[in-house]
Amino acid sequence: RNITLIDPLTGLLNRRALTAQIERKSRHLGHGPQQNALLVLDLDHFKSVNDRYGHDIGDQVLAAFSAVAEAQTRPADRLYRLGGEEFCILLPDTDMREALAVAEGIRRAFAACIVETERGERVSATLSIGIAATKFAGFDLELLLAAADAALYEAKARGRNRIVVADTEALRRSSAAPPQPDRRRA
Ligand code: GH3
Ligand code: MG
Ligand code: MG
Repeated sequence: RNITLIDPLTGLLNRRALTAQIERKSRHLGHGPQQNALLVLDLDHFKSVNDRYGHDIGDQVLAAFSAVAEAQTRPADRLYRLGGEEFCILLPDTDMREALAVAEGIRRAFAACIVETERGERVSATLSIGIAATKFAGFDLELLLAAADAALYEAKARGRNRIVVADTEALRRSSAAPPQPDRRRA
């Protein structure tokens, strides 16, 4: 089971694991009044790292990201590789202030991280992060993911190597909507 849910390069959970989490409707991420936060992270100009230093160094940069993200998060947090150089982190029982601190810790530590090539070149990269958080009990993971993704897009557009918080008003409006019957079964 682990083999099908874990990305071999980074050791993180894979997209299939996230889909499974979404289908479980986030049961394990808390139902109470506490906030839950979600980060979506994407390495900046990663194609040029590959182009310049080769795919193997690119892979090492991805592994370095994984180590940084693990070190900057708690055991209860869940780290996923969504594909390529894109990742997502679920932070249960975390408010926006705490989520921002985690995101900033990852951003800073990753920017300072160096991968050395055989020729002694020192390779580093940056990443952009979108954050969404909600107070809503039994939050909708898909909604958070979409909001964080839009914020990530904004972070890229504003110049990369930065964090953008999702439009919380839009999230609050959607969260305030009365509970819907299960759409998949409807
Ligand atoms: P942006 O800042 O806009 O995100 O630019 P980018 O270059 O990071 O984004 P783009 O989507 O153009 O390129 C992503 C690159 O990631 C292209 C692909 O070759 C590389 N990539 C995806 N998966 C892997 C992998 O497993 N290993 C390596 N080394 N590279 C990968
Ligand atoms: Mg990228
Ligand atoms: Mg990408």
